[in-house]
Amino acid sequence: MADTFERARCLVDGQWFTPAGPAIEVINPYTETVIGDVVDAGEQIVHDAVRAAAAAHPAWRDTDVDERAALLERTAELLIRDEDTLAGIVSREMGMPISLSRITQAQLPAQVLRATARIARNFPWSQDIDGATLVRRGSGVVGAVTPWNMPVHQIVAKVAAALAAGSTVVLKASEMTPYDANCLVSLFHEAGCPPGVLNVVTGTGAVTGAALAAHPHLAHVSFTGSVTAGRTVAALAAASLTRCTLELGGKSPAVLLPDADLDTAITGAVASGLVNSGQACNATTRLLIPETVADDAADLITAAVAQHRLGDPFDPLTRQGPLVSARQRDRVLDYIGNAIDAGGHLLTGTGKPSEVAETGFFVDPTVITGLPADATAIREEIFGPVIAVQTYTDVDDAVRIANDCAYGLSAEVWSADVDRARTVATRLDVGQVKINGVRTRNRPAVPFGGVKDSGYGRELGHLGIEEFTDATAVMS
Ligand code: NAD
Repeated sequence: MADTFERARCLVDGQWFTPAGPAIEVINPYTETVIGDVVDAGEQIVHDAVRAAAAAHPAWRDTDVDERAALLERTAELLIRDEDTLAGIVSREMGMPISLSRITQAQLPAQVLRATARIARNFPWSQDIDGATLVRRGSGVVGAVTPWNMPVHQIVAKVAAALAAGSTVVLKASEMTPYDANCLVSLFHEAGCPPGVLNVVTGTGAVTGAALAAHPHLAHVSFTGSVTAGRTVAALAAASLTRCTLELGGKSPAVLLPDADLDTAITGAVASGLVNSGQACNATTRLLIPETVADDAADLITAAVAQHRLGDPFDPLTRQGPLVSARQRDRVLDYIGNAIDAGGHLLTGTGKPSEVAETGFFVDPTVITGLPADATAIREEIFGPVIAVQTYTDVDDAVRIANDCAYGLSAEVWSADVDRARTVATRLDVGQVKINGVRTRNRPAVPFGGVKDSGYGRELGHLGIEEFTDATAVMS
């Protein structure tokens, strides 16, 4: 595969084209070189794309669900066929280790496509309720705005559900990762997606993303990204009373219950916190451990972190690549500096740019202990390889600390007793709890989403499809 790409393209009504305008560089965060560029499609192209999606909607909505499900299944096959290409693009665009790219940006999206197809075939499109029939149909044009951190998975989570529902889509992927979006959408079309059903506009959030979110002819805006941008998107959509799904940030706790096998739990929770260099919305960046085991835990944490080898994203042994940009690296280092100023102790990491390679925006995996509850590194999403350790006295205290957070996306609970873990899980104010290290890729049909500042609405599973439908009650 070439190391550089032509300018990222837009797709409107089945026609690919390269928009004109000032170039926004796409930079490989490992080599620090420019690999391509993208321009802001802007209002007119957004408008053309929404018009094409609106024109395609009635016919797509009225297709048999089998036809829509089959499109997703064919796309899944093509994704697996082109796994190396797609994973390679993602690793070049944002530095994800290639082994993780394959699993999370090709295999997982294929699993999600297949799971969505299966759920769509069994979805209650028509339900008898109290003598009436509740009919569900695709609601219209979905504006999908996605981030760079798990780019293909984030797009598929929206597009698979919307197309399965019978809605049509205008996608605005992150300006930092436009090429995987171009590649993925071309696979949908190779699989037979009709013109206008799935359209792509390129560019920044402030210009093209905002033009899409504000477009009055959308039925739904589905946004994944930061809390700040999510608030703006929801406000823009509100002007047209457009419904929103907001998948925002997180500060997820991993709660290690006193009966958990400490070694297994720490190894697993540290891996969940450092996955994708900590650039995961559900990364477990707060590690909650009983205070009685704090000393033993410190050695195990250091050993677990040492397994996270930094390096070239294309080395299959690399477990942690660079951060996505110099800006993100500097932001993360600022957070670590603030944590030290707040009295935190670095169990691992240096608080300085990592010197693992000559180029690349690397930060060493960093674990911080001894922080007060109001420290920014405890309260704010850092989006880097930084884990804060918090100790608790008893299970009630653990639940209190876990819930003392503006976010509510996800959590892990580790215990030798699954029933006990489930009881604790249901006390956590989050949208999803994983017990003993289960992975999303093991459960691609399970709804995902948050509460509190982590947003509202759900992706994946039957709730993901339902988001993009309207219900009509027919009474006789
Ligand atoms: P971001 O908010 O900067 O950008 C996300 C997307 O929104 C991009 O496509 C961007 O161009 C667009 N955008 C930005 N401002 C916009 C605006 N005013 N109007 C319309 N669109 C706009 O986020 P990011 O840096 O790309 O991604 C990291 C963030 O995403 C983190 O906070 C992370 O937690 C969150 N995230 C959440 C989930 C989830 O499912 N909850 C998943 C992945 C990432």
